[in-house]
Amino acid sequence: MTERAVIVGGGIAGSVAALELRRAGVAVTVVEARSAASGGAVVRINPNGLDALRAIGAHQAVIAASFPLLRFEWYVPTGRIGYRMTADPSALRGTPRVMAWADPARVLQGEAARAGAVFRYDARVIETNESADRAWALLADGDTVEGV
Ligand SMILES: Cc1cc2nc3c(=O)[nH]c(=O)nc-3n(C[C@H](O)[C@H](O)[C@H](O)COP(=O)(O)OP(=O)(O)OC[C@H]3O[C@@H](n4cnc5c(N)ncnc54)[C@H](O)[C@@H]3O)c2cc1C
Repeated sequence: MTERAVIVGGGIAGSVAALELRRAGVAVTVVEARSAASGGAVVRINPNGLDALRAIGAHQAVIAASFPLLRFEWYVPTGRIGYRMTADPSALRGTPRVMAWADPARVLQGEAARAGAVFRYDARVIETNESADRAWALLADGDTVEGV
């Protein structure tokens, strides 16, 4: 019997888990409350985050959807600079990357979907349960998604 996993939440963690489970041969359904990743300003992906994505072969998609962060200044409400960062483009591990807030989840959802994970959007989980041989998530619309 093929193992089936249910993942609640299609953010970065849920999408990466889905990708790796698919590679392990597990059937995966990701249940995501939102219709699509949206909102916010920008998100910074530091070199250690890129290292983690490289370890699972998902870094190229993120690099393609982002741009290098060479200089960062954070202003406090008085107008004074609270924090300043200048990146060295020749650094061995590369510079941090910047992308639109919703893009890390969107890109990783795409990678997991290409690997065969099924995404259900607009689906909010309101309860999870497990027994000795299965686990299931109850959705707000009354539907149930089951894993074994
Ligand atoms: C203001 C702010 C700025 C940040 N800036 C950075 C940054 O610059 N760089 C960086 O690396 N990190 C940053 N972070 C942290 C980063 O956003 C988180 O570490 C990351 O999003 C965590 O990923 P995750 O998949 O664990 O959770 P989330 O991204 O929170 O994903 C969880 C998903 O689960 C879904 N969900 C929740 N409840 C349910 C439910 N009941 N049923 C179905 N789906 C559900 C949500 O809709 C969501 O899509 C920032 C965070 C905040 C709040």
